[in-house]
Amino acid sequence: MNKTFGPYRRLRQRSREIAFVSSASELLSWDLETYMPPKGLDFRAEQLAYLSGQAHRLWTAKTVGAWIAACEQQGFASDSPEAANVREWRRGYDRATKLPAALVEKFERTRALAREAWREARQRSEFGTFRPHLEKLLDLNRQKADCLGFQESPYDALLDGYEPGTRASQLRTLFQELRPAIGAILGAALERSAAVPKDLLQGHYPLAAQQAFNREVAAAIGFDFEAGRVDATTHPFCSTAGPGDCRLTTRYRETDFTYSLYSILHESGHGLYEQGLPAEHFGTPLGSAASLGIHESQSRLWENHIARHPAFWEHWHPIACRHFPELKALAPAQLTAAVNRVTPSFIRTEADQVTYDLHIILRFEIEVEMLEGRLAVADLPAYWNEAFEKMIGLKVTKDAEGCLQDIHWSLGDLGYFPTYTLGNLNAAQLMARAQTECPGLEAGLARGEYNLLLGWLRDKVHRHGLRYPPQELMRLATGEPTSAVHHLLCLRRKFN
Ligand code: ZN
Repeated sequence: MNKTFGPYRRLRQRSREIAFVSSASELLSWDLETYMPPKGLDFRAEQLAYLSGQAHRLWTAKTVGAWIAACEQQGFASDSPEAANVREWRRGYDRATKLPAALVEKFERTRALAREAWREARQRSEFGTFRPHLEKLLDLNRQKADCLGFQESPYDALLDGYEPGTRASQLRTLFQELRPAIGAILGAALERSAAVPKDLLQGHYPLAAQQAFNREVAAAIGFDFEAGRVDATTHPFCSTAGPGDCRLTTRYRETDFTYSLYSILHESGHGLYEQGLPAEHFGTPLGSAASLGIHESQSRLWENHIARHPAFWEHWHPIACRHFPELKALAPAQLTAAVNRVTPSFIRTEADQVTYDLHIILRFEIEVEMLEGRLAVADLPAYWNEAFEKMIGLKVTKDAEGCLQDIHWSLGDLGYFPTYTLGNLNAAQLMARAQTECPGLEAGLARGEYNLLLGWLRDKVHRHGLRYPPQELMRLATGEPTSAVHHLLCLRRKFN
């Protein structure tokens, strides 16, 4: 049997139709965050709700289930691209149809209100305002997990939506290794960083110069500006409106050019992945990213392994000086030291490379405790503050810097955070493998040549889309499933 099989053709057609609808939503959401005038918000929210409902209806139609069943009955060769599409369509269809429409709608309504309540609560640093909303969202997430089904923990059912095939128990094993190892690295890293003045890079960096420099760097690592663009938002993101149209966003601080530069490098990493997905498979699993943990590995790889490596500033320092003449007073090694400064902080999104994963481990543990019913939402702030001090060593004095800092819970997203750490681990593992497989890679990086690395990532990761589940992809690319070994090795090499 081949791809001309009727039900397969219809599924592919339907999958593409849904992609037309969802990519239109992506673009409208991008516009909402960038250029939409404020008074357009109510209509846009309605428009987006309609489109997501439309995509959901198109996918959960009974006939889609019948097409998938027909494909499974006929059977494609197990290692064929078609079999991969059918596998993922089944996964997506089951996840979408196991949830009753009433639950999905209730979830949407609850989180719309929760998001507003969270904003207010954070502004006033007052957990009480957000508490009833989080209680509802937690309960709905438990119901969701029950509908989706799980063997060990309700957490698994939610995690599976972001990182197919990974279980909470596997994360626990990884994190048990990671936590004490990071603790052991931290001491020496802090000592080194104490010698680097906090305000070393403080200066005046005009917006236009930052934009020009960022663009030069993003283009050099391979981001195609004929197939993408950069705009400004409060929270940086990467959004794909379709093949040949990838939108990155960033934010600027005129006193610190690295604030926008490293966020552009991060988002460009996501963008390179999107631009490297096979366009001919757009709208099907073969043309989609493998998972959030794989996506994040691409952004982290460019941001941390390339742009925080001494070779990066050896090459880019003279070019940066053309945009920002005041950098002439600094040596490349000082720039490297400044962008690798380690200091424990309250907010995850501002965390350095060493302490970042501690924030994720903390959240993972708290989410599991809440979902499995051992931690009541009412006790969250006190629990957070105590656990945070134990984990990161800082005393939290206000909820805005504690359990209210992050938007994810207000969106009802539980099970999402671990993908950030998986991204860090995958990035180090992929980078280590690229170094052994590509002779001349290091020498090229020192000259600001990134083709060899990008080519390797295209070949091992990007071009496969969702052909393989994420852990299978990691095995094929690096010879082993995700482990903490390479990440810890990198941290030790850099900070000890
Ligand atoms: Zn990211």
